[in-house]
Amino acid sequence: MTRPLSSRTQNIAASLTVAIDTLAKQMIADGKDVVSLGAGEPDFPTPEPIRQAACKAINEGKTRYTAPVGILDVRKAVCEKLENENGLKYAPEQIIMTSGAKHAVFNALAALINEGDEVIVPAPYWVTYPELVKWLGGKPVFVQGSRENDFKITGEQLKNACTERTKAVLLNNPCNPTGSVYSKKELSELAKVIVEKDIYCISDEVYEYFVYNTEFVSAAAFDGMAERTIIINGFSKSYCMTGWRIGYDAAPVPIAKIIGKIQGQATHHPSNVAQYAALAALQMDKAQVNTMREAFKKRRDYMLERTSKILKTPAKAPDGAFYLFAPVNDFYGMQTPDGKIISGSIELCQYLLESQGLAIVPGAAFGDDSCVRFSYAASDEALAKACDRFEKGLNALKCST
Ligand code: GLU
Repeated sequence: MTRPLSSRTQNIAASLTVAIDTLAKQMIADGKDVVSLGAGEPDFPTPEPIRQAACKAINEGKTRYTAPVGILDVRKAVCEKLENENGLKYAPEQIIMTSGAKHAVFNALAALINEGDEVIVPAPYWVTYPELVKWLGGKPVFVQGSRENDFKITGEQLKNACTERTKAVLLNNPCNPTGSVYSKKELSELAKVIVEKDIYCISDEVYEYFVYNTEFVSAAAFDGMAERTIIINGFSKSYCMTGWRIGYDAAPVPIAKIIGKIQGQATHHPSNVAQYAALAALQMDKAQVNTMREAFKKRRDYMLERTSKILKTPAKAPDGAFYLFAPVNDFYGMQTPDGKIISGSIELCQYLLESQGLAIVPGAAFGDDSCVRFSYAASDEALAKACDRFEKGLNALKCST
């Protein structure tokens, strides 16, 4: 065939988090000794009540089509969650169940973007955001969160980045990959600019339960924000349901209607059984999530302590999510035992995978080549092994003169 394939699709990069996770899992399946802290995938099993609810749904024949936006009971339960936990009033018609949070981001962008629209993406960012913006004909505009400000952007920076073409800002709070969490004051400054500039806000809140020594506030909670915010959330991280692919958009009614239309044409709806599983998750008490948060906090502290002895510049303590974004640029320019020069985060991660069997994600994938990302949503044993391998790998590097 000589006819060209979609140029828009050819212009987007493959997801590096997904690629590394897939490669590491394949290497393990092939019998290789690999420790993977690549993808952010909790190592705990999906809780029992959720699994039971899914089996029950299957046995009761809940295996047919649902409405494109999802079943009413789960959308009602999402509204209750938003009211009880976030103080936000939503009606079921504003909730669209999706095949995971990534799909919910896609829906939100698809509902908003016209050709050439700018979407402000604070950097470092999750790999998927700029690619989806580009894929849908928009232009990602990066605003760098400074290291001194814990990688967060300020209201002033947001204001300066807005132009006539700005359609939306894509916030991720708590942030993947940095673990940064916006305080109420910082968010209210961003909200003021968003309202004043009359733009939309896509707020990916998938890590909301994983905050350490700080509080989480939804971007939709500020004056004038609910009518311009699309909240993204999912069950993958909070309830260890990565493979179930279930999440949601919570949006103002006109946007929710468009998302329902998109979904009716694109996927029809997320899995019926997964929706019943999500309903059970929403009905569970929070004890399990709290236990997980405590475990992640311990693991975070362990990773910080170990890496601080290995790195020349220690990583900052992440306030949320389950990632450590560690500066490794002090090692750039050094030589591997087989003579290769480490020129950036991609080469470093490749070297660590090949020489030590350690899978982590290069910061370049998130728009910051000076760092690498460790996911600490892994067992204590895996974390200990990963740190040993990281140390061994870095110690084996030589100055190249
Ligand atoms: N969100 C997780 C991560 O960043 C899973 C992989 C992905 O979808 O990017 O590792």
